[in-house]
Amino acid sequence: MAQGSCHCGAVAFRVDGPLRPVIDCHCSQCRKQSGHFWAATSAAHADFHLLRDDGLAWYRASPAARRGFCRHCGSFLFWQPEGEDRLSIAAGCLDGATGLATTESWFHEDAGDYYDPAGGPPPRLAMAPVTLQGACLCGANRFTLPGPMGEVWACHCIQCRKISGHYSASFDARESDVTWQARHLAEYVTPGGGRRGFCPSCATSLFFRAADGAFSVEAGCIANPTGGRISEHIFTSFKGDYYDITDGLPAWPDAGG
Ligand SMILES: [Zn+2]
Ligand SMILES: [Zn+2]
Ligand SMILES: [Zn+2]
Repeated sequence: MAQGSCHCGAVAFRVDGPLRPVIDCHCSQCRKQSGHFWAATSAAHADFHLLRDDGLAWYRASPAARRGFCRHCGSFLFWQPEGEDRLSIAAGCLDGATGLATTESWFHEDAGDYYDPAGGPPPRLAMAPVTLQGACLCGANRFTLPGPMGEVWACHCIQCRKISGHYSASFDARESDVTWQARHLAEYVTPGGGRRGFCPSCATSLFFRAADGAFSVEAGCIANPTGGRISEHIFTSFKGDYYDITDGLPAWPDAGG
């Protein structure tokens, strides 16, 4: 028996049967939509029950599958392959202890250059690209900003876990440096007064603007090469039980030092 929801609560569900072990997916679609990479369990349709669905929307990135998300908060929740009787569910949106383990990791060839998809130490900072190219999965948002990406922090807080479907990875930027070539944004106002920018058509996580104006961009929406490198993990006291942090980087139970 498991229960889960998006961050704002407009999509909530219950699973009455067994959940599959978690699979990490580093494909370019999951990376854009989640903002880093996705981690999913799955359940049989017969065991899956929506408790609330007024926020539920779907984006079809390919004929083979639909991607379910919350249109109010942008949480990336579900992946539904056509014709299958099982639904993939973001492990990050499950509530409480899951009792699950991560057993597979897919599409390493599509991983971002700022982390090691095998979970080891990240690569050294690469040569700085002049311009970072960002886009959402559906292409309705496209932007550039000066590179390199630099230090990237991974956040395991509940808000980041619900919205990304696993945990987030972002880098600091100046909002005034972002040049939009195409812009189609929704902003979710968080309980702390921050705003999370996402695409209302495909749910790609794009940025976070804190209540004090501090601005960060989701690493997953930037195309390689980024000149970025994961440098630390924060809010690990809220980390999910289905994964371990194995890259040897500093990990802080709270906002860190
Ligand atoms: Zn929501
Ligand atoms: Zn989009
Ligand atoms: Zn966070």
